[in-house]
Amino acid sequence: MKIPFLNLQRQQKELLQPVQKLLTETMLEDILLGGKAVHTFEDKFARYLNVKHVIACANCTDALEIALRALQIGQGDEVIVPANGWMSAAEAVCLLGAVPVFVDSLVDRYTIDPDKIETKITSRTKAIIPIHLYGYAADMERIMGIAAAYGLKVIEDCAQAQGATIQGKKAGSWGDIAAFSFYPTKNLGAIGDAGALATNDEELSTTCRQIANHGQSEKNIHVRLGRNSRMDSFQAAVLSYKLGLLDQWNLRRRELAQRYNNELQPYYLHLPQEDEGYFHVYHLYVIRCADRKRLSKLLGEKGVGTAVHYPVAVADMQVFEAYSFADTPVASKQCHELLSLPLYPQLTDEEQMYIIEAMKEALSEMDQQIV
Ligand SMILES: *Cc1c(COP(=O)(O)O)cnc(C)c1O
Repeated sequence: MKIPFLNLQRQQKELLQPVQKLLTETMLEDILLGGKAVHTFEDKFARYLNVKHVIACANCTDALEIALRALQIGQGDEVIVPANGWMSAAEAVCLLGAVPVFVDSLVDRYTIDPDKIETKITSRTKAIIPIHLYGYAADMERIMGIAAAYGLKVIEDCAQAQGATIQGKKAGSWGDIAAFSFYPTKNLGAIGDAGALATNDEELSTTCRQIANHGQSEKNIHVRLGRNSRMDSFQAAVLSYKLGLLDQWNLRRRELAQRYNNELQPYYLHLPQEDEGYFHVYHLYVIRCADRKRLSKLLGEKGVGTAVHYPVAVADMQVFEAYSFADTPVASKQCHELLSLPLYPQLTDEEQMYIIEAMKEALSEMDQQIV
């Protein structure tokens, strides 16, 4: 059997008919960017997250940059970012002339370690950007407590966590503002690029909306320098439709994760953890294995695709060399051990059992004895 790490086409084939209908409807409208479809999605997503305002934009990297600008973060300011994850947060911080300050990861959760945040706070620190990594929320109760104590803003990077919760409260509704990606592979993905901001703060919402639309407060009235970051009407229509499927897809992801956990639990591997009160949405199913390279090679020989998220910690990337102090050892070490197994709602039970058998064979070949 050949199982690719991700089979997005399978999902797209399921959606072919409704999406074709949405494309036809979009093309019979005069407005192809923004407009009714985008407002409808913003309202639906705001209700889903239980936040007051959602602002659609072009992608999550834009959303992070817009949020930072709306919070007036720029030259000389410092922003706490996780050492591990995707690079957009640190990139957006740098592009605004601010300084990313990397904080190490939790050993078994991979999100930012709250115990290591306070020592990195200085008089120049303005904000914290936790990343809800792999579908698992960062420790927002602790992070919001630290932010309150030091007067810092919190921007949640929710690109991988649509539907994740802590104590029933959605990721994206904890901080001052949140950035979402609808890149096609995310739990809620468009048929192309799309992103959004979410906040309960009316003023922040207005500012973000202006920044994303050339600084316009109304047509042809430019009250500030903004940029162009729009969502296609078609993508908004697709996202509104797919939002209706998100919860059942997340439950399917959890079901697959549970089976991996049950079957792989006896082996010398670090499996994903879920603390009491947390709802993991398994954007990725990431394990840790001392000999990741060998395991992925053996799985590959059996036809099972895997991926690495991510081969280099953000803090160790060459582009951030000027900001890095080699003081995030957990993240630096884990990049060599993390391995993502196939997990998506359209993966069949039969395919998953094949992957599990392949894993067991590979692990026995590697002398990874049963505990
Ligand atoms: C995908 C991703 C982004 C970037 O999203 P885009 O919409 O592609 O800009 C940012 N942060 C994280 C954690 C991501 O996974």
